[in-house]
Amino acid sequence: MSSQPPFEAIARKHGAPVYVYDAHVISAQYNRLKNAFRKVEHLKLHYAVKANSNLSVLRLMHQLGAGLDTVSIEEVRLGLRAGVAPENIIYTPNGVSIEELEEARSLGVQINIDNLSVLELFGQRYPETPVCVRINPHVMAGGNANISVGHIDSKFGISIHQVPHILRIVELTKMRINGVHMHTGSDILDIDVFLHASEILFEAATHFKDLEFIDFGSGFKVPYKKDDIETPIEELGEKLSERFNAFCEKIGKPLTLSFEPGKFLVSQAGTFVAKVNVVKQTTSTVFAGVDSGFNHLMRPMLYGSYHHIENISNPKGKPRFYSVVGYICETDTFGSNRQIAEITEGDLLAFHNAGAYCFSMSSNYNSRLRPAEVLWYNGEVHLIRSRETFEDLLKGQVEVDLTAEAKVETV
Ligand SMILES: *Cc1c(COP(=O)(O)O)cnc(C)c1O
Repeated sequence: MSSQPPFEAIARKHGAPVYVYDAHVISAQYNRLKNAFRKVEHLKLHYAVKANSNLSVLRLMHQLGAGLDTVSIEEVRLGLRAGVAPENIIYTPNGVSIEELEEARSLGVQINIDNLSVLELFGQRYPETPVCVRINPHVMAGGNANISVGHIDSKFGISIHQVPHILRIVELTKMRINGVHMHTGSDILDIDVFLHASEILFEAATHFKDLEFIDFGSGFKVPYKKDDIETPIEELGEKLSERFNAFCEKIGKPLTLSFEPGKFLVSQAGTFVAKVNVVKQTTSTVFAGVDSGFNHLMRPMLYGSYHHIENISNPKGKPRFYSVVGYICETDTFGSNRQIAEITEGDLLAFHNAGAYCFSMSSNYNSRLRPAEVLWYNGEVHLIRSRETFEDLLKGQVEVDLTAEAKVETV
């Protein structure tokens, strides 16, 4: 049982704009995914921190039983700070220095390497530390090249055709490969494409005698509007579980099946609430301008993502067409030709699916402050990040005296 977060009261108390996350939705999604794969004996779900890295969200994931998928040493540190044990954190960076990998190693997290030269160097230095390898199966999942990372031109992963080279490095360095991983892209629309990529990964997996887990990454699509297509998780769970169990039986070893969902767990749990500053009638449209912009929510401008917009101050108002825009001095359109209940200046608009890749991509562009974040948990409002203040903009800035009399420090 769960009621909606009291958006208006939250905006009154913590100010608009504000991000609101419903913990109940996060746990429901987590349990749905877990349940879809209930027939797999050893299942591990690592939440992808980059989707939403608020410490309280990480703690909630930890409480639900999830591990974490991290892409930077800073995300690793956030995960540890949230109380997640290093062995439940997988670190899957791309293009980072060997020093950063060494730091991750010293923190004790599972390292996932996606480059042959790094694998060779790491294997020579630390043959005793088992690592996972990220394989690019060259399968195109979804249609958007910006969020599809398994294709031939992708910078991610080691090509499936280079497995012989991985094996050579393993033989020469005596390092151990304990996992194989793929992450094909952000939108699995067709589970047959995903299962096809999985077969390629299974084949690669047969070459590694120290294997403990197979990580199928993520890319679960969530609905953004009514009747939108989403990844059929239950069907995928049924089919992949059966295939995975058969594979374990064939190789005579009980492996762990892993996933790293980000969007699936947090997207729908989040709502961004912003206030309408101006309603502006032009010769061709009516703009509703909110007290926010791509500094707070950039997905529509970056990827053309759809975020459903509702007027929560006047839900029964007569529907009219609006272009909802931000206050940034650049084009920042959240949505064009949206049918929204009649908007008056001062109304609060709710942007749905704002739990993933929204706050975590926010910036201070135009020297604007980042909004607060709130978690709606067990019927209570918890402030989990304060709205920034002007002091935050100054933090780290060194105010140099550039007058002629000032003594210049030479390097
Ligand atoms: C971003 C990312 C994910 C999460 O992707 P979603 O589409 O948010 O589920 C998982 N694994 C890796 C390696 C990633 O980079």
